Amino acid sequence: MGVTSTPSTELATNDADRVDTRIDLFHSRLRDVIGVAKWETWIKPLSTSFEDSGLQLVAPNRFNATWVRDNYTHQVREIASSVWPEPFDVMITVTTEPALVEATTVPYQPRLDVSPPTDNGSSPHRNDTSNLLARYSFENFVVGPSNRFAHAAAQAVAEQPGRHYNPLFIYAGSGLGKTHLLHAVGQHRVELDPTTIIRYVTSESFFNDFINSIRRKRMDDFKSRYRRVGLLLLDDVQFFEGKEQVLEEFFHTFNSLYESGNQLVISSDRPPKELRTIEDRLRSRFEWGLTTDIQSPDVETRLAILRKNAALNPTAIPDDVLEFIAENVSDNIRELEGALTRVAAFSTLTSERVTLDLASNVLRDIVGLQSATPLTAESIITTVAHFYEIRQSDLVGSSRRQPLARQRQVAMYICREHTGLSLPKIGAAFGGRDHTTVMHAVNKINGLIQADKTIFDEVSAITQQLRTK
Ligand code: ADP
Ligand code: MG
Repeated sequence: MGVTSTPSTELATNDADRVDTRIDLFHSRLRDVIGVAKWETWIKPLSTSFEDSGLQLVAPNRFNATWVRDNYTHQVREIASSVWPEPFDVMITVTTEPALVEATTVPYQPRLDVSPPTDNGSSPHRNDTSNLLARYSFENFVVGPSNRFAHAAAQAVAEQPGRHYNPLFIYAGSGLGKTHLLHAVGQHRVELDPTTIIRYVTSESFFNDFINSIRRKRMDDFKSRYRRVGLLLLDDVQFFEGKEQVLEEFFHTFNSLYESGNQLVISSDRPPKELRTIEDRLRSRFEWGLTTDIQSPDVETRLAILRKNAALNPTAIPDDVLEFIAENVSDNIRELEGALTRVAAFSTLTSERVTLDLASNVLRDIVGLQSATPLTAESIITTVAHFYEIRQSDLVGSSRRQPLARQRQVAMYICREHTGLSLPKIGAAFGGRDHTTVMHAVNKINGLIQADKTIFDEVSAITQQLRTK
């Protein structure tokens, strides 16, 4: 931050009391300028001293230091120069961090305890979670202005869990990367310290586990499952809304983990204050640590995500096609990836080269029509029933005969792709089916559209009808 002269000896060395007074003054002025909440989060953790070399602000971690440098340098300098009239240097550094876990030659069994996420578009099988975890890594997470803060905070808690930002509360709309970040925290933590006990759980699985444990009188097991972990990753906490018993239990889980210095990372589709039916004592705890949102990605970030995905595709996707998709699909990243998959699938199924023409033809249903009218499960059910010329009551009914069952799966798939509805909500719209049934349907159709041209065409035609209504 530009070296100038050293401060006067009077202040720096001979009169420690006055230095302290000035440091206090510096802090109180800074607090007034940036506000108490931000000061508490970012400035208070810094240890402040005034040495020969100038004002030293030492942050407890890299994330905190970077944040202060990027956001408060200007205010820090200005206020410091109002407190210490002589020109001097300002340094924002990081305390020497304790060495992270060293690589070990002893083989280990990482104690990674992950129940399958309920909304990942991958296999629902329990024994297949390793793939999915690997994909949701920090490495595969594209950072842009929309998610920079959430990403940095997630990295910070993976590196120093339980210390500075507890809980970390991440909120965002559907398909913007919450689940991805939660998994990334878990994976990174286990890389740094294979002995940490990590548990990723959706709020829904937590709820089901809780209910079953009560039924089977196994509450002790339940408690140790969730309270004896170093890092609890709880996805989609909005699911707890209005469920008093589980909220009570989670309140105790939270306290127990928090008090033992274990880290919680919680995701939600809205900020804590909008979780209305969650009582104040728990809601306020959600805000004890650090709360961050993820915004919709800008076009550059969308393009970067597509490039990353396209690189994994066996057939080359030209850049103008990626740009076309990035410009036209903006609602969320799940849709963005879905659009790329469709283009690639169409090209494979028809053996046509991927060109801009092909892409705009395949995606004509979504291009220009993004969020024109938000689709609902009801409108999808109506349109699908009409398309296949079947009754709506059959589509949401219980019959498993074909082709009805497949048509129902198509309808569920379209709901997942084109509404923000969670798996349980989609299940409810289809006659109260379980979320795992919906997940199975989504995976099934996702596979079929890449292998079966008829299904591909049906899905495209239905989506187009929905979007042009
Ligand atoms: P959410 O949990 O918020 O609904 P997900 O974490 O399931 O969203 O993300 C939806 C999809 O988008 C996933 O396939 C995920 O890998 C991908 N995704 C989200 N954010 C990013 C990102 N910043 N970089 C790369 N892929 C991303
Ligand atoms: Mg999610």
